[in-house]
Amino acid sequence: MPERIPAALQEKLTARLTFYQDIGIQLFYRDRYPPQLASATEDIPLPKPAQKTQPVRPSVEVRPAPPKPNAFPTASGPSLFEAINKIPDDTLLKIHTDLGDCTRCKLHRGRTKLVFGDGNPKAELVFVGEGPGRDEDAQGLPFVGRAGKLLTQMIEAMGLQRQDVYICNVVKCRPPDNRTPEKDEVETCSPFLLRQLDAISPKVIVCLGSVAAQTLLETNRGISHFRGEWLEFRGRKLMATYHPAYLLRNPGAKGEVWKDLQKVMAFLGLQGKKGSQAGKSS
Ligand code: SF4
Repeated sequence: MPERIPAALQEKLTARLTFYQDIGIQLFYRDRYPPQLASATEDIPLPKPAQKTQPVRPSVEVRPAPPKPNAFPTASGPSLFEAINKIPDDTLLKIHTDLGDCTRCKLHRGRTKLVFGDGNPKAELVFVGEGPGRDEDAQGLPFVGRAGKLLTQMIEAMGLQRQDVYICNVVKCRPPDNRTPEKDEVETCSPFLLRQLDAISPKVIVCLGSVAAQTLLETNRGISHFRGEWLEFRGRKLMATYHPAYLLRNPGAKGEVWKDLQKVMAFLGLQGKKGSQAGKSS
C-alpha cells in the first residue's frame, strides 16, 4: 500500500497547487506508476509524452524599464507627502513609539489592536495594503486572514519568506465593517507610513490594491490604468497590483498579479521558489 500523505500536508499541497494553477501554471505531472509497481507495468505501453507536458516557463522581463515619473495628474489639493522630509536616523521603533496608543483619527474608536506592520526592518521589498481587517485587528498583525494567507503564498512563490519582506497598511486601525478608509483617515495616518518607508528604505514598494496605490501616488485614477507598470515613489520603484482580497473574489486575476510580481523578482534578482517554474527568469 502506498504511504498516505498526512491530511495537513495534503491540504497544504492542494492549496499550493491551486495557487499555481490560478496564476496560469496549468501543467503538473508525477510519475504515472509508483516505483514499486514498475515491474508489474513493464508490458504496458506508456503514452508518448506530448510536447505540451513540459512545464510552461512564464516569460519574465529580465531588464526592467527605467523608472519613469508618475505619468498622471495628482489628486486635487496640495501634495500630502511633498512637504514631509525624511527624518534622519528614524527607526520603526521610534515611529511605533510616536504612534503610541493613537487617537489621531476616528478609526481608533472601533479598533481592538493597532496594526503597525511586520517583517524585516531592512527589507528590500515592502508590501503596502489598505488597512487591517477583522483577523488583523484581533491579532495586531497585518495580512493574517484569508487574504494574508494568499499573500504569503505569493511571497513564497517569489522565493522569499514573510520575514524577508515588510508588510504594512495605509491606515493602522480597522475601518468599521472593513469599509474603505476615508480621506481624512488616510491623510492623518499615512505620514506614519511614509516614515516607515523612509526608515526601511526598500528597493521596491508593492502597493496592494487601489487605496495603497492611490495614496502613495496621490492620484484618483483607478489602479487598472497603471497596474503592472514601474512607477516611482520618492526615488524608489513602485509597482501597483491587485489586493489579495480582490483575488479571492476574482481568482482569474491571479495571473496578472503574478506577472507584476515577476517584474519585481527580475528587478530584485529573485529566482522564485526552488522546484517550481513559477518564478524562474528566462
Ligand atoms: S488609523 Fe492611524 S491615525 Fe487613525 S487612530 Fe489608527 S493609528 Fe491613529
